[in-house]
Amino acid sequence: MGERSAGEALKESPKDASASVVAQHSAMLKALPFSDTADFDDAARGFLGSIDNAKITSAQGRSVWSLEPYGFLSDAEAPATVNPSLWRQSRLNMNHGLFEVVPGVYQVRGLDIANMTLIEGDAGVIVVDTLTSIEGARAAMALYFRHRGERPVVAVIFTHTHTDHWGGARGVLDDETLAAGRVPIIAPNLFMEHAVSENIIAGPAMLRRAQYQFGPFLAKGPRGQVDCGLGKSMAAGSVALLRPTDLIIATGDKRIIDGVEFEFQMAPNSEAPAEMHFFIPRYKLLNLAENCTHNFHNLLPFRGADVRDALAWSKYLNEALRMWGGKADAMCGQHHWPVWGRERIDTMIRQQRDLYKFAHDQTVRLMNHGLTASEIAETIRLPESLEGAWHTRGYYGHIRHNVKAIYQKYLGWYDANPVHLDPLPPAAAGKKYVDYMGGADALLMRARQDFANGEFRFVAEAVSHLVFADPDNQAARALLADTFEQLGYAAESSTWRNAYLFGAQELRQGMPKAPPRSPMPRETLAALRTEQLWDVLGVRLNGPKAEGKHIVLNWTFTDTNERFVLTLENCALTYTDGVQADNADAGFTLTRGTLDEVIAKQTSFTDAVAARRIEVIGDVTRLAELMDLMDEFPRMFEIVEPKRTLVT
Ligand SMILES: [Zn+2]
Repeated sequence: MGERSAGEALKESPKDASASVVAQHSAMLKALPFSDTADFDDAARGFLGSIDNAKITSAQGRSVWSLEPYGFLSDAEAPATVNPSLWRQSRLNMNHGLFEVVPGVYQVRGLDIANMTLIEGDAGVIVVDTLTSIEGARAAMALYFRHRGERPVVAVIFTHTHTDHWGGARGVLDDETLAAGRVPIIAPNLFMEHAVSENIIAGPAMLRRAQYQFGPFLAKGPRGQVDCGLGKSMAAGSVALLRPTDLIIATGDKRIIDGVEFEFQMAPNSEAPAEMHFFIPRYKLLNLAENCTHNFHNLLPFRGADVRDALAWSKYLNEALRMWGGKADAMCGQHHWPVWGRERIDTMIRQQRDLYKFAHDQTVRLMNHGLTASEIAETIRLPESLEGAWHTRGYYGHIRHNVKAIYQKYLGWYDANPVHLDPLPPAAAGKKYVDYMGGADALLMRARQDFANGEFRFVAEAVSHLVFADPDNQAARALLADTFEQLGYAAESSTWRNAYLFGAQELRQGMPKAPPRSPMPRETLAALRTEQLWDVLGVRLNGPKAEGKHIVLNWTFTDTNERFVLTLENCALTYTDGVQADNADAGFTLTRGTLDEVIAKQTSFTDAVAARRIEVIGDVTRLAELMDLMDEFPRMFEIVEPKRTLVT
């Protein structure tokens, strides 16, 4: 068991499942109702046709989406390296194509992580959610037209603010239709405020963390990425944001679109900060967007986000039941497959309502008894009546991390034990732990014994100390990778699996090479308020470099009639709107569009000044001085091992 060289470590490939993982899987096969295959019927019901392997390619020939690499999922029986419950969900998410929900309502599923719902009106079609990419949306529309005949798009509805629901809008509405402005784009209140802001301030950290959540750099296969829980994976392709023209403000608001009546329900701060549900009396169709899907959704995704409100979520589902219970013949969401029949629909909504309520209430109860987040995760069990309902399983969120999100919402990161108030950071703590445990070899010997016994959770923790103490210890890296891998094979949640398997891969191979981040696209910038741009700039300011600097800049935007003073002092960048400073070092007059172009690197500040698109008074060098204090963020940074570059 000597140390391996770096070269050998590189060649490490995924291993077999251990005996204890195999045992866990067979216990799960006995515990869950695998003979209940109604979901497989529902996921295939109403199939009208598809594209070969759901393959979508961009004009440049780049693959935007394909289910071809997932061919291995044709086996009904789960391999030992995949949790059988997750395998089941992964197979369900393989259904792709155009499906009839009820005559007049259709869904494109499996051509993206999200669904497109198409509702036929008197003369045209209403498109609900437009998938992640323009290419995907175009392919979905073509598939729909092929089977249902060409008809005009008479409205677009965005159910909520996440990109997989609006990114492809330009593939549904062409330039001509957009310019004519006759097709309403309907969205929940505060859509623009939230559509991009969720991922802006902490965007660089979130993007890297999302790689651990979705596993885009993992090979697809029984020992790699198999699913994302909500759907297969993240789509590639081009994304563009379209500004809604009609906002739904209140529950009970109605619209008649192309002769079809829609009744709306607002669900803010549930799965997304702005989200809504609707019912269509003509079709007896209920659409609960992303709040009643075939899994326990995330209260806090691994990429990071504001914690979602489980209590509000549950209340919206209860309200939906009160408004429309017993009225719907079919219920669909913007992920997964529909459910038919009034009784089954009501049962599913009730169970989802109680899933979020149970998680919320029991977490808070245990919290008030004094349990900490990890103790709650260890204690809580879903009631039997929910445990066996497939749609409550934690393929995306999971009860064991959702309870931590609820804890965080109320009490934050601190468990109140002062030992956790100011612990050493991982590298320093790792060195002390390894020393206390009698050195690297002694630690590894104990860890290998525990690994053989299947005690993966603690082995991961112990060996991680050694990796942080000595990231070049190849034996430690290899053992930690093997341990993560077994945890990944055991996991029912796809996000857990992806996180563990990607951690293992980075320990074996290092971080994947990824091109540097590209500048923010102009239309994303255009969606941000000027205050948000200053906020983004503020978090790029390198505090230590700004020591002793004092810079005051006036800004006037001629198109938006906004004025700001931007002040750097005490190593903090602040702004005040509606005023100008008398003592400013410099002042700039320009349009917001020009500023957006500069930030998107479509022009430089100097060129814009030379072209007289920016009027300057005072000392222009003070702006350059300020911009010199701004950090550029890397696309990649170490997660399962110490940072190789010093960040201050
Ligand atoms: Zn979604």
